[in-house]
Amino acid sequence: MSGWLAIAGLGPGDAALVTPEVEAALAEATHVVGYIPYIARVAPRAGLTLHPSDNRVELDRARHALEMAAAGARVVVVSSGDPGVFAMASAVFEALEGAPEWQELDIRVLPGITAMLAAAARAGAPLGHDFCAINLSDNLKPWVVIERRLRLAAQADFAMAFYNPRSKSRPKGFARVLEILREECGAHQLITFARAVSTLEERINTVTLAEAKPEMADMRTVVLMGNSATRRVGRFVYTPRMFPGEAGAGSPSESARAQGSGQVE
Ligand code: SAH
Repeated sequence: MSGWLAIAGLGPGDAALVTPEVEAALAEATHVVGYIPYIARVAPRAGLTLHPSDNRVELDRARHALEMAAAGARVVVVSSGDPGVFAMASAVFEALEGAPEWQELDIRVLPGITAMLAAAARAGAPLGHDFCAINLSDNLKPWVVIERRLRLAAQADFAMAFYNPRSKSRPKGFARVLEILREECGAHQLITFARAVSTLEERINTVTLAEAKPEMADMRTVVLMGNSATRRVGRFVYTPRMFPGEAGAGSPSESARAQGSGQVE
């Protein structure tokens, strides 16, 4: 029997947002490995062994999954959202770096709907122009790096998605994030707190930066900060595709646009 490993994203929560490709991998799997709450989203069945583990043991979990696949098992490592976004795919490749004997294994990464995209869809289109995603947890990187990236992204007027915004062990970090945003962005810029998107506890709350409070975020929230042009239309929030004033000015694509080749879609 030849084993394989799939690193799969379960989406934000709703079973309807799991891709058919991920469902098929789960249906063929003999073992599923992952963080306890994500394993709880996988239906048990005969022939399938579930391996729930605690958070912060990602590398052990990745090695365990690789070991089982090398021994002939069909293994799915699950993440919430997309496995490549602050999740298990990088942990598996980190484990592979130290283990050349596993590098020829049949390994696939199966994408999922990441939290910021599910949240953006609920709100309207707040990420409709250039944006970036920042993980606000300082478990794996120094806080100064977070502050620097945040400040530069704000200065560049990116819309931003913040993952892991505020945990019990880091109650001060998100307050500091709001301070930095207030230094760099306009007080009327819109910020959306999207909690538990696509689950029964879903709550979407859009306020101005001036009104934003640290308590509006927790670890089940993804925060979407608009750029300077992000605005409300009816009950929705959207970011226009065109940046005010500067579209095309001085860009290499200016002449291409003149010849009629524009943006796809
Ligand atoms: N791989 C995941 C992210 C893991 S980091 C993904 O692609 O979505 C965990 C963070 O993701 C949480 O702290 C929160 O910021 C965000 N998140 C995950 N699921 C969410 C959901 N259903 N609603 C809102 N935020 C969510």
